[in-house]
Amino acid sequence: MARLVVISNRVAVPKARGVPGAQGGLAGALNAALRDHGGVWFGWSGQETDEFTGSVNYVRSAEGVTTATIDLEHQDVQEYYYGYANSTLWPLFHYRIDLTQYEREFGKGYERVNRRFAESVLPLIDPGDMVWVHDYHLLPLGNQLRENGVTNKLGFFLHTPWPPTNLFVSLPYHDRLVRTMLAYDLLGFQNNTWLESFLHYCGKELGADVDHASGRITLDGKVTTARAYPIGIDYDHFVQKGDTGEARQAQQRLISSCRRRTAMIGVDRLDYSKGLPERLDGIARFFDRHPDRVRDLVFIQIAPPSRENLESYQDIRETLEQKTGQINGARSEVDLVPVRYVNKGQSQEQLFGFYRASKIGLVTPLRDGMNLVAKEYVAAQDPDDPGVLILSQFAGAAQQLSDALLVNPHSADDIAHNIRLALDMPLEERKERHGKLLKSVREENVQRWTANFVDDLSQAG
Ligand code: UDP
Repeated sequence: MARLVVISNRVAVPKARGVPGAQGGLAGALNAALRDHGGVWFGWSGQETDEFTGSVNYVRSAEGVTTATIDLEHQDVQEYYYGYANSTLWPLFHYRIDLTQYEREFGKGYERVNRRFAESVLPLIDPGDMVWVHDYHLLPLGNQLRENGVTNKLGFFLHTPWPPTNLFVSLPYHDRLVRTMLAYDLLGFQNNTWLESFLHYCGKELGADVDHASGRITLDGKVTTARAYPIGIDYDHFVQKGDTGEARQAQQRLISSCRRRTAMIGVDRLDYSKGLPERLDGIARFFDRHPDRVRDLVFIQIAPPSRENLESYQDIRETLEQKTGQINGARSEVDLVPVRYVNKGQSQEQLFGFYRASKIGLVTPLRDGMNLVAKEYVAAQDPDDPGVLILSQFAGAAQQLSDALLVNPHSADDIAHNIRLALDMPLEERKERHGKLLKSVREENVQRWTANFVDDLSQAG
């Protein structure tokens, strides 16, 4: 079996694992992929230096995974990470052209860091290795590797959505960027919607020959295949976390603090793509419509801070604090606070316990590549008395989890209506829906995602 060289912006170095909030969806998935496959995981250490040295720091974990990291200089972090990746591409890929900032310096920094990644990872790639690059930070990396003489199989997976062509063309030099992506042998997307947008772009804007059925894109004689590979959770690993004292304690704490009220939970990085203000508007609408039920429901929002240096993230935090204050101000009593907002990361064990204690999971991103929280919520339920998942129709996960209550996250009415449906749903219906959701979450797990992508990559090119 060919060894994997995985490259992503950040690497979860072994000592950071298990730290609450230290890993998002991508890190958890790659951890699992490499644990099962063996290989090297290369990326930025998260450290800033005055000057780029290019020296690589290796750590070998007990599980046989070698992580290799480089430090970046301050200007790199500003222009590549906070700039092009998170102020240009992230909002654009989540359909937020109103928040998309484009600066020439961002673009230059992005190309420079991709070049630095390519040069630093080069000595780590042996003949026969398969190289698997991840996410929007590193779109041109495959092309940089080819220019440095790499002939190995090169795959790329995008964890975010890919926006419709008429939004994507608002990016200056969009065609140059996408042409570099065609240096990969295999391109993976989270679902068919994002895949179709990408294929449409290649046909319409690049004039490539696109076969939609097979995902084959031919341009200037070079063939690239693009397909959908919906990412899953590491099901067994996650369920094992539920069998710990920490998980049971978290579950008990939440149940006893709710004092017979139904707990409804949301878990999201504090990000404008997650639809948090709209979610609170939906909850306020529910309370307005059903004042007699304020005493029935407690909403707990876990929202660890993210990318705090950026203004758009500071704004969302302020909006959320204000809205929480308004809802609670109007409806709290001495023994009742309807919305609890926790601005702190929680461990996976704690999350398992909180999910299990919550009879409703409210997952309403305005746009999300996949959304693993929705899958974790399903995995953590008691099959004999499961909670109800309310899921945004615009999360990538909605294509697989169609037995959830699907909502339009922009509509306060729709959210309010579905909260009522969830609260009143009879046990039989809850069990039936949960059974179907669980089957998908258990079977379409991260191991299958890795195997499908890696199998296709080994045959691509
Ligand atoms: N997560 C966590 N602690 C927290 C909040 C989130 O470990 O306090 C994890 C969560 O369990 C999930 C991941 O972060 O595995 C979030 O993945 P998702 O796909 O939902 O969103 P992303 O953050 O990648 O946009």
